[in-house]
Amino acid sequence: MIYKRHGRTGKDLSIIGFGGMRFKNMDDQDACVEMMVKAAELGINYFDTAPLYFGIKSEVVYGKAFNEFKKRNIPFYSSTKTFESKKEKIRREIEKQLERLNLDSIDFYHVWNVTDLDKWYERKKNGVLEIFIRLKEEGLIKHICVSSHLIGDHIRELLEENIFEAVLFGYSAYNFTVRQEAFDAIKKYDIGCVVMNPLGGGIIPQHPEVFDFIKTRKDQSVVEAALHFIFAHEKITTALVGFSTMEEIHEAVRAVESYQNITAEKLQTIKDSAAASFEGLCTGCQYCDNCPVEIPIPKYMEAYNFKVLYKKDSQLLDRLKWHWDIPTDWAARCTECGQCEDICPQHLPIIARLEEIAKMKR
Ligand code: SF4
Ligand code: SF4
Repeated sequence: MIYKRHGRTGKDLSIIGFGGMRFKNMDDQDACVEMMVKAAELGINYFDTAPLYFGIKSEVVYGKAFNEFKKRNIPFYSSTKTFESKKEKIRREIEKQLERLNLDSIDFYHVWNVTDLDKWYERKKNGVLEIFIRLKEEGLIKHICVSSHLIGDHIRELLEENIFEAVLFGYSAYNFTVRQEAFDAIKKYDIGCVVMNPLGGGIIPQHPEVFDFIKTRKDQSVVEAALHFIFAHEKITTALVGFSTMEEIHEAVRAVESYQNITAEKLQTIKDSAAASFEGLCTGCQYCDNCPVEIPIPKYMEAYNFKVLYKKDSQLLDRLKWHWDIPTDWAARCTECGQCEDICPQHLPIIARLEEIAKMKR
């Protein structure tokens, strides 16, 4: 395993982290704990979860795994989050989280899911930072962190608070262009950076032929290449992978073992190709899945990825018909309220895409 210094937190984290949002069968807690123990034995030391991953089940499983780590003297760092913004609610939440996680203190505690700067300022007005500082003084958390789906210059503004010691956001070989500016503040304040969705929410492994250009060696798989692209970033400490199976853990660890330094020149070539080809893909986060006129937006946008990737309407139409089984004309119900575009972390032009889909005929 390779370890990197996590900014000014001073902690050394494994370059692969364990994300607790993709367990295959959350009801088989023993199997989930077994996966986490295996990951820790293989050197992964950063374990990230949240109070709404499978309800509270992910945190409960993490608590069981942390007990195992302690019994076996395996070193680890815990990471979780809160979406609450009122002081009393945050305190109540963390008390429950510490109990579920079987911990006295959480290493990395995140203000969760900042998707909009105005809403962030509201949360701040409610005292979210004050209570985080208090929790740190009381020893209930070690580091104040934030997770965000904002674009890069908004993340930079968020980090200008200079209170956050670490930040978590989505970053991969195809969406990095919308996050670049975040690294200005990360460098300036020596903030630790963990990234999620390193495989683009599954898009990269599902389209190995399309993403072939990210490979730096012939013997690399596309998954390895996508992870190596992130390992090569000097300011990213850890790529968080949501593991579903034991085999995926071994695959990620193999990617660490096979990593060879990528020259700055080669990295730039990859970035140039990616920037030109793959902006504007939906990552399937489903944050937009709350349309007032019940348009299944994530399904339409996932199908639209096929048009972006293959440059053909027929691929999109096939996806809608044979995978999602939805007609094109439901897309015409859109009232252009703009709610979905406001929340989309990829900043996709959803309304225009729906209009385009609505006009398509098989
Ligand atoms: S803009 Fe259209 S698709 Fe988006 S939430 Fe509003 S009605 Fe639904
Ligand atoms: S359209 Fe945007 S918000 Fe909706 S699922 Fe795709 S990436 Fe997420």
